[in-house]
Amino acid sequence: MIPMLKRSTALLIPLLLAAGLWLWWQNRSQENVLPQRTAKPTTLSTLGRVPDWKSLEAQQGTITRREFERLLTTVFVTGGSWREFMDIGENEVRIRTADGENAEVFVLRFANEGSAKAPARWWRVPEELPPAAAGKPLDGLHIAIDPGHIGGKWASIEERSFDAGDGHAVREGDLTLQVAKRLRPQLESLGARVSLVREKAEPVTQWRPEGLIETARQANENSAAPDSPIALRKLAERLFYRTAEIHARADLVNQSIKPDLVLCLHFNAEAWGDPNQPRLVDRSHFHILLNGAYSDEELRLADHRFAMIDKLLSRTHEEETSIGMSVANVFARISGLPPYTYPVGASNVLPVNGHPYLWARNLLANRLYQCPVIFMEPYVMNSITDHARIKLGDYDGTRDVNGTPRVSIIREYADALAEGLKQVYAARRATIER
Ligand SMILES: [Zn+2]
Repeated sequence: MIPMLKRSTALLIPLLLAAGLWLWWQNRSQENVLPQRTAKPTTLSTLGRVPDWKSLEAQQGTITRREFERLLTTVFVTGGSWREFMDIGENEVRIRTADGENAEVFVLRFANEGSAKAPARWWRVPEELPPAAAGKPLDGLHIAIDPGHIGGKWASIEERSFDAGDGHAVREGDLTLQVAKRLRPQLESLGARVSLVREKAEPVTQWRPEGLIETARQANENSAAPDSPIALRKLAERLFYRTAEIHARADLVNQSIKPDLVLCLHFNAEAWGDPNQPRLVDRSHFHILLNGAYSDEELRLADHRFAMIDKLLSRTHEEETSIGMSVANVFARISGLPPYTYPVGASNVLPVNGHPYLWARNLLANRLYQCPVIFMEPYVMNSITDHARIKLGDYDGTRDVNGTPRVSIIREYADALAEGLKQVYAARRATIER
């Protein structure tokens, strides 16, 4: 009997172990179910990519706790949702990279006051460049010019085109390319190496709206938007000319061009209604956008969350502010444009340093381009004056615009931007005197 007992005990042990395991598994899976949040762990923006948190290991010890908290709360977030995934301790910040209790945690160690290492990045600030040749304050600087939108035959589907009944189509993508081509030789004559992100009125992305219908359908599933064929086609078009196009430009900027600075060129507008009978307004304005002001909703998306931390740690904001202030001051003086002002308390915008022309917003381009970005928003294409100037095109000297002699709007844009860059680099760089 004793051997029999022994055998049944031997059988009992794995049985008990299995029961224990089963109980543990039950508890564990219940734990997994409980902390449900509004977003799923790997929720990404449409066409967004899964972040590589390990790439941030290079930023260990590059920022103090004080500076991290200052940048986070005054520049990068507009709400309090960051507390749901970030735990700021004395010596480190623990960042949950996704939602749920079992999400991986990225730990960033702070630098002690006065001993922060230089952040890891490909781009250089003026002080990191060798001394400039006399009269060439942009010597050796690599600038990418990104002419906003696509223009040409694509301008109407990207809703950046109108015709005020005079047979002159105003297309933002064509205007920005004209400014870019005018600006390039000016920056080169100041010593810069210049790359254009696009050289013609054609998309950089290989995607076309037809290929994005299924992506549009999936994106629509998560929203309450109507899914009629027309609505889906519209969404696929937006995914093409905005999302896919800017992702393709970001790949160019981040993987091939790797510039020290990107200039995103745009013309602003006010709602014009029917593009064949546009509403003209009697005001114009100007502002510059820097990356920041991530909303609570955006930070629930894994790729936005990562990009914000990546931007904060590579310290693009300090550079965008310094260059942005110079460009804004010079541009405002030369153009005479008043500042555009956002409503106070908006969840997706923050003022920068109390400067009237500088605002932080989280845009696709200034988020995806992994270097400082100056995002220009001067003029109002459907203002009475700017529209008259746009119709006159590019010309030497001045021409009469509603009774006032004005230089061409294309040249004023390029000249003012080049002058703003020249001044800030001249002030911050050493020069070789011959
Ligand atoms: Zn634009």
